[in-house]
Amino acid sequence: MDKKMKCTNCGSHELVRCGIPSEGGGELVSVRNAETYACKQCRHVEFFLLETEIQAIAVREKKQADYEDQVKQYEQKKAALQKQIDELRRVVSDENQTVKAVNEAKEKVMQLENELRNLRKPGNPYSLW
Ligand SMILES: [Zn+2]
Repeated sequence: MDKKMKCTNCGSHELVRCGIPSEGGGELVSVRNAETYACKQCRHVEFFLLETEIQAIAVREKKQADYEDQVKQYEQKKAALQKQIDELRRVVSDENQTVKAVNEAKEKVMQLENELRNLRKPGNPYSLW
């Protein structure tokens, strides 16, 4: 552990690696995902997460960012499909359009509506945990 380590309670640099008291008393126990240090001056205990835990947090942050990107893409795709559908519906209801153009627009609206229905919002990675 870094020598610049300092007790957050009294400012002392005299910290010693130790376990923490357990609920049932007896010997000090180690913390699974952290290193713990006691201040020799004031007995305050400092916790430091293991590097692997920091990496795990980074992985979670990345997953969250990816998820937010996917949601954004989903929202954009949905809005784009809706816009296309709205434009085609104007063609369908336009009396000056040819029967052929109206039929083609109707066909395309059905396709796009189907695509819109099948568009799935990305799952939140946190809901899996
Ligand atoms: Zn201290």
